[in-house]
Amino acid sequence: MKKEVEPHCSFCGRKKRDALILVSGLEGHICENCITQAYQIVQDEVFHVEKQAAKRSATNNYKPKEIFNHLNQYIIGQEEAKKVISVAVYNHYKRINQTKTNDEVEIEKSNILIAGHTGTGKTLFAKTIARFLNVPFAIADATVFTEAGYVGEDVESILSRLLQACDYNVSQAERGIIYIDEIDKIARKGDNPSITRDVSGEGVQQGMLKLLEGSQVLVPPQGGRKHPDQQMVKIDTSNILFICGGAFEGIDKLIAARLNRSKVGFKKNADKENINTDNFLQHITAADMRSFGLIPELIGRLPVITYLNPLDKAALKSILTEPKNAITKQFKKLFKLEGINLSFDEEALDFVVDKAIELELGARGLRSICENIMTEAMFELPSEKGVKEFVVTRKYAEEQFDLKPQTTLKVA
Ligand code: ADP
Repeated sequence: MKKEVEPHCSFCGRKKRDALILVSGLEGHICENCITQAYQIVQDEVFHVEKQAAKRSATNNYKPKEIFNHLNQYIIGQEEAKKVISVAVYNHYKRINQTKTNDEVEIEKSNILIAGHTGTGKTLFAKTIARFLNVPFAIADATVFTEAGYVGEDVESILSRLLQACDYNVSQAERGIIYIDEIDKIARKGDNPSITRDVSGEGVQQGMLKLLEGSQVLVPPQGGRKHPDQQMVKIDTSNILFICGGAFEGIDKLIAARLNRSKVGFKKNADKENINTDNFLQHITAADMRSFGLIPELIGRLPVITYLNPLDKAALKSILTEPKNAITKQFKKLFKLEGINLSFDEEALDFVVDKAIELELGARGLRSICENIMTEAMFELPSEKGVKEFVVTRKYAEEQFDLKPQTTLKVA
């Protein structure tokens, strides 16, 4: 007679009587110890794969030209900024991915500062890059920050937002992009560095230094003020790319003054002609930022400085029609879902652009002007049968626009 074999773990051989649990399969058994070990192996493996994937996605090693070409699909004009930013982003991720060598050359972080009037595309640049690289992205307004201990937000709160943007995955957040808007608004007020208390100016700049240079920061994951009961998450900001933007209202005078000085000084006369006065921002340097009231330490941590041009009529018209998700393309898509072919006459587009300029709304106003013009059609057409075609003429645009009170115009 065949001897009955006592069930045992097929992995470690432990007998049933020595095991707490023995789970049976088709051909064998597994004990609780081996289940725990196997689980650990799975966890390690999955975590490793996730980490690798995060690394790859952020660093697909897009070349500067590829980044530039992508930006081109969404952003009109601003060639110089596109080039500078493509290179900075490329270098940033190259730096993160470098294998450590002992040659003592340390590539420093290339945080970016963009100067440009409001509505010229600063946020759009940051957003487009983050989406292209598939990295977490967060936007903050520098004006809401106050020095720690004062009413307002701590600078660290921006890291909470970044964490939230990637479902609290710390390793992903540590390779993300943060856009800080209105950096010019935290410039030191007045030229006197010994100004008694500057809660929302220099104090905030000091607070930002720590984030920008790369350090370990304890962050309350849910945001808000640090609270003794809240569990903190440690985030290393060394590989987070910071893009700061600001309009730097009035800096053109400082730039002009500096250019003028150097013209009188040691620069050759020939340079005089090379100075393009259309947009003084294109001559912006760290020295101007400093005169404007940013502290040198902060400027030092924003080594890449670039500028955006104001948008002229032609640029505004292109913005309406050309980018991949241009406003008119979005309306066309909406109408298509209704089975209607929507088109805009050139003159109608000119009208939208003229209104945006006249009302000083810039590119931000284009959408709300279009919304105003299109509301009636979007209200009526879905209930009408048999409409296959809808052309927005200048006359229609004018009529619709004039019907609306201008208070309905919101800046996006
Ligand atoms: P900023 O951050 O400089 O104030 P935004 O990036 O928020 O301006 O731009 C406002 C809106 O204007 C954006 O949503 C975008 O649709 C449009 N826009 C501005 N500049 C451009 C541009 N150069 N190309 C395409 N769209 C633009």
